[in-house]
Amino acid sequence: MVRILLKGADACPVIECDVCRLPITDHKNANAAYVHPSSEGTTGECFHIHKGCDQKLRERLGVQTSWQPLRTHLQYLTINVGLTPDALREDSLDQLG
Ligand SMILES: [Zn+2]
Repeated sequence: MVRILLKGADACPVIECDVCRLPITDHKNANAAYVHPSSEGTTGECFHIHKGCDQKLRERLGVQTSWQPLRTHLQYLTINVGLTPDALREDSLDQLG
């Protein structure tokens, strides 16, 4: 689950595990898990979880889940909202002035 953490005056987006609710601070220890959509063009709910929390998620859902590494998931997510590597590079250059 994406949440906002207040740090001083800054609102910082963070990801909390959808099973244990602890923050995910290292992408290497986390996955995006989901029930595979049943047909083309449909969507399904997606869960951000620690790798060790996958069994509890399957037990809670009562079905098998598919997954992808959190790193891959976030890369696809940014591209699917139009935030391509080129757009990121342009933003960085704009901030440099
Ligand atoms: Zn967890």
